[in-house]
Amino acid sequence: MAQPITLPPLPYPEDALDPVISARTVALHYGKHHRTYVDNLNRLVAGTDLEGRSLEEIIAATADQPAKAGIFNNAAQAWNHDFYWRSLTPKGGARPPGELAERIAAAFGSYAAFRKDFAKTAQEQFGSGWVWLVAEANHLAIVRTANAHLPRLPGQRPLLAVDVWEHAYYLDYNNRRVDYVDTVLERLIDWNFAAANLAREPDLSHA
Ligand code: FE
Repeated sequence: MAQPITLPPLPYPEDALDPVISARTVALHYGKHHRTYVDNLNRLVAGTDLEGRSLEEIIAATADQPAKAGIFNNAAQAWNHDFYWRSLTPKGGARPPGELAERIAAAFGSYAAFRKDFAKTAQEQFGSGWVWLVAEANHLAIVRTANAHLPRLPGQRPLLAVDVWEHAYYLDYNNRRVDYVDTVLERLIDWNFAAANLAREPDLSHA
């Protein structure tokens, strides 16, 4: 029997991000939304040639194929949410370290300008989606993706992600998406996670 995709454990207790992200939001977001993407994915790939493949392999095999959108959406959302939880940490925020700080200043002018651009990008995303800091060939960039999509152009490497689906913030911030994004950047972003992603090879297959 092929191994199913599993729901990775949350890297901290459900109430650890409170009050920036409430325990109630995390309980629903992780325990219901994230879990449902994983459960749906396992149901959809059961008995197909994608059963037993890794999340990254399933994403690469189904991206840009309308007939496989259901599998892609659930696989991508499973990947995106795991990446999102690991982009956050209860004692996060503050300033990016070392090389990352230099790369941010080079790409955006300053850390303050980066913050402003990231919040603006979150505001510009119409409807559900994600905002990412990514490393590209020689520079960093902020990109937004709709729905389940993730940055997977050749050479693009996600460093951190913020979920801007309403389920990520509506209970705590109502319709104030920019307040949510800005407070997450200020207090929860795990810059060590972003720095580790900058330092390693891409983990998404672009084959
Ligand atoms: Fe979400």
